[in-house]
Amino acid sequence: MNWPLSRKTNGSETQTNGHIITMQSIRKVYDTGKIQVEALRGIDLEVGRGEFVAVIGPSGSGKSTLLNLLGCLDTPSDGNYLLGGEAVAGLDRDRLADVRNRRVGFVFQNFNLLPQLTALENVEMPMLFGGIGRKERRRRAMEGLEKVGLGDRTHHRPTELSGGQMQRVAIARALSMEPDILLADEPTGNLDTGSGTDVLSLLEELWKQGSTLVVVTHDAALSKRAQRVVEIRDGLIVNDRRTQTARDKASSSEDTAN
Ligand code: ADP
Repeated sequence: MNWPLSRKTNGSETQTNGHIITMQSIRKVYDTGKIQVEALRGIDLEVGRGEFVAVIGPSGSGKSTLLNLLGCLDTPSDGNYLLGGEAVAGLDRDRLADVRNRRVGFVFQNFNLLPQLTALENVEMPMLFGGIGRKERRRRAMEGLEKVGLGDRTHHRPTELSGGQMQRVAIARALSMEPDILLADEPTGNLDTGSGTDVLSLLEELWKQGSTLVVVTHDAALSKRAQRVVEIRDGLIVNDRRTQTARDKASSSEDTAN
């Protein structure tokens, strides 16, 4: 079987061989005035549709910088980046925001829910900015909350939810605009083991349903569930490997095919 697995393809992306992400020679230099910090020093990365990738590495290695670039929150100093076949490296702020809203869903360590809004209203937020009408917003938000197992918590505010439930609301919010890719920064970092396991199971379930996930993590349990682990050190990818999970899945689907 070819690597990477590509499960959902659409004809418009043939130029990237079905890759949702193609990064070539990406560099990021932070200029703090006195000194320049080269946070990424030449990243080449391809991620296929339907992959589940964990990004690991020590603190300061460049993981957050990479996630920010992947999610179009920032632009590289140098190099090419195609997201869903769209060249985004040289876009100005407004166009970058447009690509981000259409193509990327974010999940953060601290959930980043708005405390004064209910779970339902939090999930509706990206759709509000995305110009989706009120009725459709509500319908999709209800559906999203049901999908993450919170159909009975729609009118709860974040303070009335557990950490694991808050993260599930955040995941429903990230999915509400039906993004091409879900990016998560330490999604289990603020959760106890039980809630962390629930969130991991949810991410895995989303992946099985076809979502593409890139997750920065220190959590060994999470990187074990991912299909592929990319390791960064000093701004460079030093290891990119398929996990046992991926090999098991590949061989079981070959068995089914035979
Ligand atoms: P990680 O997420 O792996 O901890 P980061 O991407 O946050 O790593 O940081 C990579 C390097 O870039 C570090 O040396 C960090 O100090 C530096 N860095 C990150 N953000 C900035 C910034 N906004 N300004 C200057 N330096 C930064």
